[in-house]
Amino acid sequence: MKPSQPGKLGVHVAVVGGGVMGAFTAANLLMSGAHVTLYDPHAMGTGPGASVDTGRSFRVHYGQDQQLISMAVHSRRLWSEWSVRLGRPLLHPTGKLLVEHSADRHAFESWQTMRKMGLHAERLGKGRIAEEWPGFVAPNATVDRMGGVLDPEVILKGMSSWLGQAGLERRKEALDIKAKSVRCSLGWKDFDSVVVTTGAWTQRWVQVPMEVTRQQLVYFDATALGDRLMNLPVFSDLQSGFYAIPTVKDGRIKVANHHPGPAGHPDGDSRKVTPEFRTAARAFLAQHLPELANAEEAWEYVCFYSGTADRDFILDRTADGLVVGAGFSGHGFKFGPLIGRLLAQMALKQTLDVDVARFSMHRNALQEESTRLAV
Ligand SMILES: Cc1cc2nc3c(=O)[nH]c(=O)nc-3n(C[C@H](O)[C@H](O)[C@H](O)COP(=O)(O)OP(=O)(O)OC[C@H]3O[C@@H](n4cnc5c(N)ncnc54)[C@H](O)[C@@H]3O)c2cc1C
Repeated sequence: MKPSQPGKLGVHVAVVGGGVMGAFTAANLLMSGAHVTLYDPHAMGTGPGASVDTGRSFRVHYGQDQQLISMAVHSRRLWSEWSVRLGRPLLHPTGKLLVEHSADRHAFESWQTMRKMGLHAERLGKGRIAEEWPGFVAPNATVDRMGGVLDPEVILKGMSSWLGQAGLERRKEALDIKAKSVRCSLGWKDFDSVVVTTGAWTQRWVQVPMEVTRQQLVYFDATALGDRLMNLPVFSDLQSGFYAIPTVKDGRIKVANHHPGPAGHPDGDSRKVTPEFRTAARAFLAQHLPELANAEEAWEYVCFYSGTADRDFILDRTADGLVVGAGFSGHGFKFGPLIGRLLAQMALKQTLDVDVARFSMHRNALQEESTRLAV
């Protein structure tokens, strides 16, 4: 294999896996002056990984979890900076509405915690909701005005071309990984540091405590809403686990369930949605947008969560120094620019912007039975 030119920093880092986490890790490494080789058999934004699709929800509401709220606010700032670098807005600011239930404190606690942290927080009753979003029905809800929709297809395509211009070196599939070297079809190559961001494939290299689960999605045609689709918020019901994301560019609303599904894997599992899920997804949509009760189904798909027992991430280093970013548990996309920054700082042994102690792969919660709850 041809020797690579070291970057300004004189350090060569491998990033294995080019989903959202790998893309932003590589970008931050390049911005720090490292030379970077990224391994992935697929073009960014394509393939069987989790960073595909046209809609991912962004929210800062995280119940009583002040660290995740702060990280989401931080990440939102970074999304704005990346919007400038990529020359287009990346976060469509629709807001996010969390339906409240007396038995579920998460929405209320999010509101309470945001206020405690000096952040804007709002609760709306049924009437105010109907006034702001005509045709949308919900009981009391907590509204996250910083929430919105991120489009992985647009973001990963944009990142791919930015990375190309910034001097990223690309390789196909990694066949084996060690703390400081990677083997691909061209043979072994040594690096100063290796970062693994291979999502559902991470257990091929590192025994991270996580479970890959099958998540079903149904997209309904929402063109009947006309211009109202533009302003419709992302909405979710943590009790049932169902959520909906308006994906404005293609006139659809995606309905899915955040609760972890049965175990599965993107390699080999069927991507077919069950009739029971289809019916439940339609019922959730009709409950909140009655005029879409008979909307045509535009598409359906199955995606895979890499979930940890406590639904928190894994940002850690193995005993021999391999940097690992995994277990994003179905809510990692919104943190992509921040996690990429942290993984790059870990690879370069720099001071981290955020204390990542809670994301250790050896934390007690990961030795226990999975909570199976959404966060
Ligand atoms: C249905 C669904 C809905 C979601 N909704 C939301 C949401 O609304 N909001 C939110 O914040 N998050 C959401 N998430 C979570 C978010 O999408 C993921 O956390 C995030 O995309 C994970 O990114 P990643 O880079 O870690 O993994 P991936 O995107 O899966 O990337 C892993 C990459 O590794 C590559 N790879 C695998 N094996 C190899 C190898 N041998 N060599 C080289 N490369 C390899 C793969 O090709 C792939 O490109 C959702 C996830 C799913 C599945």
